Amino acid sequence: MTMTKGSLKTAALIVAAGRGTRAGGDVPKQWRMVAGRSIAAHTVSLFVDHADINTVVVVAHPEDTHIAARLGVEIVAGGATRDASVRAGLEALEGRGFDYVLVHDVARSLVPPAVISDVIAALATHVGAAPGLAVTDALWRGSEGLVDGTPSRDGIFRAQTPQGFHFDAILAAHRAHAGSAADDVEVARAAGIDVAIVPGAEENFKVTRPGDFARLEKELTGNMDIRLGNGFDVHRFGDGDHVMLCGIRIAHTHGLMGHSDADVGMHAVTDALYGALAEGDIGRHFPPSDMKWKGADSAVFLRHAVGLATQKGFSISNIDCTLICEHPKIGPHATAMTTRMSEIMGLETTRISIKATTSERLGFTGREEGIAALATATLVKI
Ligand code: MG
Repeated sequence: MTMTKGSLKTAALIVAAGRGTRAGGDVPKQWRMVAGRSIAAHTVSLFVDHADINTVVVVAHPEDTHIAARLGVEIVAGGATRDASVRAGLEALEGRGFDYVLVHDVARSLVPPAVISDVIAALATHVGAAPGLAVTDALWRGSEGLVDGTPSRDGIFRAQTPQGFHFDAILAAHRAHAGSAADDVEVARAAGIDVAIVPGAEENFKVTRPGDFARLEKELTGNMDIRLGNGFDVHRFGDGDHVMLCGIRIAHTHGLMGHSDADVGMHAVTDALYGALAEGDIGRHFPPSDMKWKGADSAVFLRHAVGLATQKGFSISNIDCTLICEHPKIGPHATAMTTRMSEIMGLETTRISIKATTSERLGFTGREEGIAALATATLVKI
């Protein structure tokens, strides 16, 4: 049978059902946070983003399925052993038209996309394919603290994942396999399936020991793209009985003048986000010449800037906004402002700072001619 690239359906099965805390900590290692996301989230995203993978399924321990649900992919409850978990995942994928399946350890969060591609490519000519690294260190056999053998390293490989197979063949192999196996290559070979070795990668290591978390964090953050943006805005006082500040209506002796609702704090934060993305300012995205934005709720602008950050792959790490005025007093409203900004931005309140200062009665803010605001935003792409 000949298959043409593009017509094949490939599923990735991420095995995350282990509960072991061998690597330290009080939660299973796949749910530990490293560089802002769980280890499982890092791993899943590599497969979700890969052009040759159609579906990603995570096999989680039955007690962890609620945590796993946050990954945004299909979750299957695993079994008591690694084999049983893989089998559960394969059974869930059966009859859905998959030609290939790749089984991957959740704790290998740095598998290069090229390794995934190589495994899939090798499946055009082999029923199984998996990455391996030739052993370069000399090997010893040891007993009671003494070297008692020096086996040859020729032809010895360190096995990695993803291990790829023709779907029907590996499902049949798992159904026929009794007892435990170290990996799916062992299950496949027990069923007589040939498994091609494709080049593995040193960075495709499995987080196993306590020190591996720091190694993973270093590798992930080494590629981190961190952006800072600042925003500054001023609106003058005019007639009115309230001001809008960071989404909160505050009764006042004057109102703020502006094309929109004149929420000076929200404008500064919005401009800080646009600034971090090198995407100009509010005026560029929402021209004041456009009557559509007359009296607009400034949340429209802020939501747009947040959406643009997401679209460009950034998450917002924090924002810090300072309002500069003598009146109204900001302190009593700061908590409500933080909550409202949190709702609009989809960002936790602990990452939102809203504070105020006077200008000691100096300058235009001191003379109460208007309110100024400045803001800083940090955006991170991993
Ligand atoms: Mg403004």
